[in-house]
Amino acid sequence: MTTPLSLPTRRSPYLLPPEELGEFIGGPRYRGDQLREWLYSTPVVEPAEMTNLPKDVREKMAGSLWPFTIETEQVADDGATRKWLFRLPDGPAIEAVVMGYPDRTTLCISSQAGCALGCTFCATGQFGFERNLDAGEIVAQLQWVEAQLAIAPLSIGPDHVTNMVFMGMGEPLANYPRLREALRRIIEVKGMSPRRITVSTVGMVPGMRMLADEPWRVNLAVSLHAADDELRSGLVPLNDRYPLADVEDAARNYFEKTGRRVSIEWTLIDGVNDTLDQAALLAPVARRLGAHVNLIPMNPTPLTEDQPSSDDAVRRFRDRLTSLGVNATIRTIRGQEIDAACGQLRARADA
Ligand code: SAH
Ligand code: SF4
Repeated sequence: MTTPLSLPTRRSPYLLPPEELGEFIGGPRYRGDQLREWLYSTPVVEPAEMTNLPKDVREKMAGSLWPFTIETEQVADDGATRKWLFRLPDGPAIEAVVMGYPDRTTLCISSQAGCALGCTFCATGQFGFERNLDAGEIVAQLQWVEAQLAIAPLSIGPDHVTNMVFMGMGEPLANYPRLREALRRIIEVKGMSPRRITVSTVGMVPGMRMLADEPWRVNLAVSLHAADDELRSGLVPLNDRYPLADVEDAARNYFEKTGRRVSIEWTLIDGVNDTLDQAALLAPVARRLGAHVNLIPMNPTPLTEDQPSSDDAVRRFRDRLTSLGVNATIRTIRGQEIDAACGQLRARADA
């Protein structure tokens, strides 16, 4: 006897919880497991490649496997960096960037289309908020890149994503329930180690506290950029709601509950937050948290005159932190010529 196979909708299967794939695909129970494998373990670009599924099922999924269309793919850094622009069916576009290094392949993905938080130096913030991404739209960025790397790896690094950072468009902790569900699928279904995942936040305190109570110990990066409230509020409007002391408390709570040291991200802006006074104010915060500081020279963005700190100023800032007992690294810039560097992502429906 054959069980009829029917796909009720032409919705992307990535938009469903993995537990509902059996119902989605119909037929014998193991079909759902097979589809789950194709989506989460060995992702492929086309349903036609899902060779153990019946042909009619594959045909029904044709054109609807992914919850977005691929608008552009760009390559930089001699093939070590690649960026995709994904178009969502209701209009917004989002971006993901993958970067190869000798020992790792790091994917930077988006958690929202746009961002409502309006940090002055960030292109995503400058162009405003469109909407939250669904968990499936977050996970599908990762799996699309995995499928692409399997076909054509980067010029350097492993041929699969080894590390993932939520440092693309959006504030992940402002989209908490969907971020949580995406993390659940990535960690519990796909099987990626939480140690290889970093959630970056500009200091969304309630989300930082909730994340500390989740079963997975992911890395938390806190984008500080300034070590006194007056300067910080000028750069990061959210600081008016959650000032530095509250952000530090939530970061300490994260470390205490998870045992994972947080990192502090600091975008260095010429003449604004690259002074030795700021380094001196930042050092005790970093020491109290046992946090590593990542220094990122600001990437120029369209709506501000602000400029990156000079190489000398960056080194001076780093050296001052080091002399004050803080571990600090200057992060190298990737993909700047294709607007793929930190803070440059700003895809919009009308872009
Ligand atoms: N909303 C989250 C995550 C996305 S932004 C956050 O703010 O942490 C990812 C990182 O890029 C943050 O550390 C942010 O401060 C940094 N960033 C934003 N604009 C930048 C720019 N123009 N140059 C360099 N880094 C930038
Ligand atoms: Fe949003 Fe982060 Fe950009 Fe600030 S830096 S506007 S929080 S994406």
